[in-house]
Amino acid sequence: MAAFSATISDSSRFLSSTSLPHDKRRISPSPFSSQCSRRSFSLPPSRAVQIWDLLIDNEYVRELLQKDGLVTKSHVVAKVRVGRWKGLSIISRWGKGKPLNIRVQASVADISVEKLMDKVQLPKGDMWAVHKFGGTCVGTSQRIKNVADIIISDDSERKLVVVSAMSKVTDMMYDLINKAQSRDDSYISALDAVLEKHQSTALDLLDGDDLAAFLSQLHHDINNLKAMLRAIYIAGHVTESFSDFVVGHGELWSAQMLSFLVRKNGLDCKWMDTREVLIVNPTSSNQVDPDFLESERRLEKWFSQNSSKIIIATGFIASTPQNIPTTLKRDGSDFSAAIMGALFRARQVTIWTDVDGVYSADPRKVSEAVILRTLSYQEAWEMSYFGANVLHPRTIIPVMRYDIPIVIRNIFNLSAPGTMICRPATEDEDGQRLEAPVKGFATIDNLALVNVEGTGMAGVPGTASAIFGAVKDVGANVIMISQASSEHSVCFAVPEKEVKAVAEALQSRFRQALDAGRLSQVAVIPNCSILATVGQKMASTPGVSATLFNALAKANINVRAIAQGCSEYNITVVVKREDCIRALRAVHSRFYLSRTTIAMGIIGPGLIGGTLLDQLRDQAAVLKEEFNIDLRVMGITGSRSMVLSEVGIDLSRWRELLKEKGQVADLEKFTLHVHGNHFIPNTVIVDCTADSNVASFYHDWLRKGIHVITPNKKANSGPLDKYLKLRALQRQSYTHYFYEATVGAGLPIISTLRGLLETGDRILRIEGIFSGTLSYIFNNFTGTKAFSEVVAEAKEAGYTEPDPRDDLSGTDVARKVIILARESGLKLELSDIPVQSLVPEPLRASASAEEFMKQLPEFDKDLSRERQDAEESGEVLRYVGVVDAVNQKGNVELRRYSKDHPFAQLSGSDNIIAFTTTRYKEQPLIVRGPGAGAQVTAGGIFSDILRLASYLGAPS
Ligand code: ADP
Ligand code: ASP
Ligand code: MG
Repeated sequence: MAAFSATISDSSRFLSSTSLPHDKRRISPSPFSSQCSRRSFSLPPSRAVQIWDLLIDNEYVRELLQKDGLVTKSHVVAKVRVGRWKGLSIISRWGKGKPLNIRVQASVADISVEKLMDKVQLPKGDMWAVHKFGGTCVGTSQRIKNVADIIISDDSERKLVVVSAMSKVTDMMYDLINKAQSRDDSYISALDAVLEKHQSTALDLLDGDDLAAFLSQLHHDINNLKAMLRAIYIAGHVTESFSDFVVGHGELWSAQMLSFLVRKNGLDCKWMDTREVLIVNPTSSNQVDPDFLESERRLEKWFSQNSSKIIIATGFIASTPQNIPTTLKRDGSDFSAAIMGALFRARQVTIWTDVDGVYSADPRKVSEAVILRTLSYQEAWEMSYFGANVLHPRTIIPVMRYDIPIVIRNIFNLSAPGTMICRPATEDEDGQRLEAPVKGFATIDNLALVNVEGTGMAGVPGTASAIFGAVKDVGANVIMISQASSEHSVCFAVPEKEVKAVAEALQSRFRQALDAGRLSQVAVIPNCSILATVGQKMASTPGVSATLFNALAKANINVRAIAQGCSEYNITVVVKREDCIRALRAVHSRFYLSRTTIAMGIIGPGLIGGTLLDQLRDQAAVLKEEFNIDLRVMGITGSRSMVLSEVGIDLSRWRELLKEKGQVADLEKFTLHVHGNHFIPNTVIVDCTADSNVASFYHDWLRKGIHVITPNKKANSGPLDKYLKLRALQRQSYTHYFYEATVGAGLPIISTLRGLLETGDRILRIEGIFSGTLSYIFNNFTGTKAFSEVVAEAKEAGYTEPDPRDDLSGTDVARKVIILARESGLKLELSDIPVQSLVPEPLRASASAEEFMKQLPEFDKDLSRERQDAEESGEVLRYVGVVDAVNQKGNVELRRYSKDHPFAQLSGSDNIIAFTTTRYKEQPLIVRGPGAGAQVTAGGIFSDILRLASYLGAPS
């Protein structure tokens, strides 16, 4: 048992010793070595506190001290109770009332200062918060100030801050090396730019001694780098460790500047060159593995000399066990932060970056991507491994070990809560699952598939090992593997740049098997990408892969290979590179867009179409927010020009866009565009024309899965066989065809009729005033004015078609009658409906509408007489359409109704329709209301669109 004693000087001596040169202030291990006894030494106050802590915290020493009576129990207890941070004041107080030198004597066996140091319990645990600030967060002096503010305002007890280099600096550093190595003189000016960037930032941030100290260090480093780069230039070659040393300077500078700035704000803060602490072992695959034990030992040592509540540490850089500077490889600062979090057993690691959190897909590729509030460690790992570079893939393992959550936050949007990566919460209070089965999607480009195929592989042990042994020998990184269960083929993905070497290695390794035909080929499929779908709950949710592949199939994407690990945290598919973004968007929208996101194509932006677009414009936000219905107008086409959009036309400007950005109308191209957008699960074309050519496309659209909504009567009142084919096709498929506005504008006529039929009622007769124009005319033809005057008035008020003959001829009413007749199951052609035209025979061929209007008064007397006759019998004239379902016929004519009949009570341009059925036999079911006008017609179409959304699953 060796004895040692240490004499701890009083506080005045401590203070005087702080003026010692730096190296002298360091305690040498010898005074505490186990062989040493009764040595006195002077220490700066902070070191004395540490030694005191060290002694007191060691239970064995404490016991001995107490036993010797040199330190009373109350001292020890007081010291222990107040905690080590009050150490200095206690020693000072203690020193005052005692003799100058306090001797601490104890018999201690085999305690060396190193061992005692090791036992310094570096404070670990929840009191530490780790923050990591990415390059963009420290990209300018203003941003560095912002970072300092965030550090200062975090009220955690202790803070460890990991910083990246200022944005672009690491790239600049790699560029210096590349230039020097390729003997490009411009490395000198490039180095000047690096100097200039940091110098000007420091000038903005610092002043006085801090500025001088930083600039002197910066110039010193730059001079060193200049010499090194010169050496690289001369050699035309660079080693990895040289390169790692050079590129890590960005972090050294940003960490120092930030720590000066935090200190300038009055906080105690130390900066840490993590090359002194983080020890990593290089691996074969251009990665490094942290040596946690050694790093922990070094951290404790570092801390014992630099104890501070705020530590600003360099990201990215580390050392090998031989103390050679190295890096954690590109984007490695996240990894640095995670290692630090684990070493300190921190409460949380916050990674500050330039996005609101982890998105469901790379926001640069999928504009619809959403922020994920939580991710499990496995999900985050899979996302980052498969290319979501918001997080370095290796960040997860160190923190997962201690269950330390990572929060990704946006430094530019502090109000966003960010994404929390932690152990998943599985159930809420009601035992309901909270998590979606699929969380996110990520892609890796520039891959090639290698396919090793042949019947000779089946049942031959060691084939896989031989294949991957050969791959390993060329140092290639296998990203995914898929093997057909028949063992006829093994297929795997490697980075494109490694595939040549892999293929050659396999060809030579399997030369014999290939020659003998046991292996048929080693094929390389270049230009591939991987699309990974990630979600921990996929494992326990049936149907996820079906949905995924369905979305890919709908987008017409060919899948080259598939892999799903047993963990089922991800399903990986290999696709052609040019399909990758389309595939990503297609699957993303399938899982993330509201099921009722509908891509719309509007044909005919005239009076009705235009009103519809305006109604959509006014209502879209409400529909999206309150009903989860997301309507996107992807195209608008008139007869001459059309406007198309990838994401949805801004409806507040659709008129200008059509005028200014319109291209030549082309219905085929229009359809292809509206439906060709595979990112939106549903497509509808709304035909607001009265054109039979447009109607002739419906069959093709429905066949393609495009829903059709229209007020255009041409398809339903056209040739019967075409109509029947259209309905049969629509019934077989799951596509919808709605045409409520073809009869009675916005009035619920078709839907009422359907409701009756579907519930088993039988239609006997439908009789109604179907024309708003003719309703107006006869409602106002009361004897005070001639018929022609009323028509002129109606025309004036905009109730008629430009040529009133179109209304008066009755064809439009006949079309409505045929639509209702067919809906009721009657197989009638338009020509089967006798129509009483109100256009006098001689005027049917008049050249123009004006001429017709001019000549119409000549024929007034006929209708006047008819009206007079009716009135004399207490009746009125009404122009009606009738479906006589009992006798399988229909007609359109001018009829007389008693003045107390509902048809006689109309006003304005009201429509009225009476359904007589087996259930509504005595009293018909009557639907009445305005049946014409752009607003109500567009409203009718809009309500069909919403009906479609509800058929597709929108909430009611
Ligand atoms: P930092 O310099 O802060 O480490 P990075 O550029 O490394 O920042 O990572 C953040 C970037 O990652 C974002 O700007 C974003 O463009 C990209 N990114 C890729 N995939 C995703 C994703 N799924 N979620 C969020 N960001 C992503
Ligand atoms: N500065 C390093 C890089 O750009 C590390 C990092 O920022 O994560 O790769
Ligand atoms: Mg990063």
